[in-house]
Order: sequence, then C-alpha cells, then structure tokens
Amino acid sequence: MNMPEASFLAWQKQFSTEDDCLEYLQEMKWKNGFICPRCGNAHNYKIASRHLYECTQCKKQTSVTAGTLFHGSKITLIQWFWAIYFLGSDKGSISALRLSKLIEVNWRTARLILKKLRSAMGHRDSLYQLSGTIELDDALVGGRQKGKRGRGAAGKKNVLIACESKEKKAGFIAMEVVDSICHFSVDKFVKKYLKPGQKVRSDALAALNIIDQAQDHEARVTPSHLVDEWLPWVHIAIGNLKTFLLGTFHGVSGKYLQEYLDEFCYRFNRRFIEKQIPNRLLNLAIVHVPVKSS
Ligand SMILES: [Zn+2]
Repeated sequence: MNMPEASFLAWQKQFSTEDDCLEYLQEMKWKNGFICPRCGNAHNYKIASRHLYECTQCKKQTSVTAGTLFHGSKITLIQWFWAIYFLGSDKGSISALRLSKLIEVNWRTARLILKKLRSAMGHRDSLYQLSGTIELDDALVGGRQKGKRGRGAAGKKNVLIACESKEKKAGFIAMEVVDSICHFSVDKFVKKYLKPGQKVRSDALAALNIIDQAQDHEARVTPSHLVDEWLPWVHIAIGNLKTFLLGTFHGVSGKYLQEYLDEFCYRFNRRFIEKQIPNRLLNLAIVHVPVKSS
C-alpha cells in the first residue's frame, strides 16, 4: 500500500495543533466509527483536554491512545507526531539530545520515544522473512575503537546480517546482535529471518555450517580481495551501517546497538520509498501494541 510522501511544510499544515493529531489518530484507529468496547454502542462524548471518550450508554471511558505506541505516555500527541516526523525524515537518524531540543522534552523522555519507535520498526520488519538468494555474514559493530573479527575489540558486538541478492540490487535486509557467532545463534537467526529452503551464500566460517540443515547453503572460503564478488550486498550494507552509526551517534555502545540496527534496516528496506517513511511510521505507531518503558 502506498502512503503519502511527507515534507516539513505538509506535516506542519496537517499536524499544527493537538486537535489535528487527535482527530487523525481517532480516524485511523476507528476507521468505521467509534464502537464502545464494553457494550457496542456507537455514540460517545469526548471528555475535553484528555484523550478520553465516554460511552453515552454504559459510561465506559475509552482512551484513543490505548493499545497504541502512545499508550500511557505523558507527552502530547503533537510532540509524538513531530518526533515521528524528525526520526522518519532524517536519513542520518536523530540523536536523543537533538530530539529533546526539537520537541521540548528532557533527554530521558526523548530516548524513550526513540526506543519505542525503533522497537516498533524492528518488530514490523521481523514479520517479513527473506527469500530467494540470500547473502549471510557476520561483523563486529559498534564501540568507539577499531577492531577485527574475533579479537574481542572493546565495546564491539557480534552482528549477524542477511541480505537478499537481486542480481543488480539488494532486496530486504535483516540484522541482529548476538552474544557470539556459534551454531546456536546462527540457527536461531536463520529460523527467525529466512524462509526455509532458500539459496544462502556465506563465507566458510565453521559456525555458519549449521545453515545447511534448513537451507540450500553454499559456503566458500573467500580471500578478502574476492569477498566483494561472493557477498557484495551484505558488505555494502555493513559499510553503510558503520557510516550511519558513526555519523549520528559517533559510535554506539553495545547496549543500544539493536535499536539502531532496527532503524537502519527499516530505513534500508524502504529506501526506494523513503519520503513515505514519516507517514508509514505514524501509522505503525497507531497499530502497534504498546512498548514497555523500561
Ligand atoms: Zn458502552
């Protein structure tokens, strides 16, 4: 489904007051009109200044933010909607510090908003499984120092990456932080992100041979100067990821790495429709179940 493209001016026009946001949320949530969850009555009174609607019949109060990503949040909808715009429209992502200034919240609140949005992005993409020809590799990512595979460089984390190869372009991508690259973590990753019976290419790292069990797996010992021929897309993606992490976050501590991977993949997977991302993210936040604050 195509979504409208978003520009700063269009967003400003559409969502300039709290009521604009409330109205949009209400329309999206109750597409066929309000229905009381207790008695099924279709009529309500709006309770001013809170996002609550009271059933005219049984008096049950229903919050329009209940069951969405905005559930239980103390900030206004307009702050949420603009956080979504700033995160969704910036290719290089946004730091919590910058977001906190833009929507006038403290740093901790901005961090929590970003965490919830990135978590929804990750969840959305985990519903899709890769298929066709898939390149799979591991990398050491994050931290603030340079390091090589297997050396346990400070602050770096192991990441598994899979990328659909569509000959002249990359397809969908998936990335996950793992404690170590071993049979257990590789098997779990492959089962979660890949349809069974696909054509999977990798280098000949021993931990990856578990892929044979459910996939048509071809492992090749690849000297470093030939690796871009055997696994081109996955290496381009790793390079882009490292640039993304350095650019906005000046390196990332391991603790938050999965959130950034979720955002990176979500954006990568929509790179041909990137102007739709703010609207897609807004609608995702409305249909997404609440994400825990801690
Ligand atoms: Zn009712």
